[in-house]
Amino acid sequence: MPMIAAFGPSREGLPVAPAAASAARRYPDVAMPPLDWNEDVARATAHLYERIKTVVPAIEWPFFAPYIKAINDLKKQRGAVILAHNYQTPEIYNCVADFVGDSLQLAREAAKTKAGVIVQCGVHFMAETAKILNPDKVVLIPDRRAGCSLAQSITAEDVRMLRDSFPGVPIVTYVNTSAEVKAESDICCTSSNALQVVESLGSDKVIFLPDEYLAKYVASQTSVKIIAWKGHCEVHERFTADELRSYRESDPSIKIIAHPECPPDVIEEADFTGSTAHMIDWVRERRPRRVVMVTECSMADNVQAELPDVQFVRPCNLCPHMKRITLPKILDSLVHMQEEVVVDPLIAGKARRAVERMIHLKS
Ligand code: SF4
Repeated sequence: MPMIAAFGPSREGLPVAPAAASAARRYPDVAMPPLDWNEDVARATAHLYERIKTVVPAIEWPFFAPYIKAINDLKKQRGAVILAHNYQTPEIYNCVADFVGDSLQLAREAAKTKAGVIVQCGVHFMAETAKILNPDKVVLIPDRRAGCSLAQSITAEDVRMLRDSFPGVPIVTYVNTSAEVKAESDICCTSSNALQVVESLGSDKVIFLPDEYLAKYVASQTSVKIIAWKGHCEVHERFTADELRSYRESDPSIKIIAHPECPPDVIEEADFTGSTAHMIDWVRERRPRRVVMVTECSMADNVQAELPDVQFVRPCNLCPHMKRITLPKILDSLVHMQEEVVVDPLIAGKARRAVERMIHLKS
């Protein structure tokens, strides 16, 4: 494997919240809509319940439906678009989101949208990416504490240290990083396009930050030498190869598909490895009878809602940061136009170059 080094300790804690900004002034508060469960709400949301009835019990719907109706009404009033990551819960992903996908798909939608307001149902670095690509738009995140262990594992100073240590070696940064880290990078990547990005640089050596396991996975697929960092996803690093072997022993026909943020011995047990978007496509195309999705637990619920004939085994590792986003917080976000994401324009300008260079790579 041509990976030649991995540097750096992980850091603790969540991102420092940027200062509050002007959205609340430009968009005055509206009254909180009524949240009663009644016949009008039932009628207006019946088609949405159809989408998720296999994964959300009927008894829970009277709680969700009033929020869903209120959010969808208010979204129109505010001229807002809701982007939701594949790890969001089914009632968010299927019932209020305008666009869903992995980090790359959401970044592309953020770049294309004509809406004046973007509500990011995902984690903070995703909302920052949307703001970097849309400096004149209002970007809201329903809970700014929605962080990411990978984004927290590295700082801009660490990237500068690596650039000084390896002069002339291009730096590829996973989108799961802060705007400051992106600003120090040559190009960003996601788990969908990491290999393509690394090979696009025409260099025999690349610094790949900050996910050590994704770096190892890319290194196993390319002759480019990879210099890595020791950042890990706290969700994917919890899966073990033993756990997957026990699934296979109990049902030899079961299919196992894994995200490349998992440790290498976990990936070795998988029938397929890919980003969340690629995992979904794999299940859509192959329609296995039974499948283990080795990634954040909610994604299996979302694919199950679409493909009820496939049986999903869910090793239930939840991302605590993704799970901070809830329907009540999304509604609050639209009523009060909070929490607005702010990125320093100088940082945003440099980070935009790295993100846009990735977006414009030919697939
Ligand atoms: S699943 Fe892992 S990489 Fe994704 S947001 Fe959560 S901690 Fe970060």
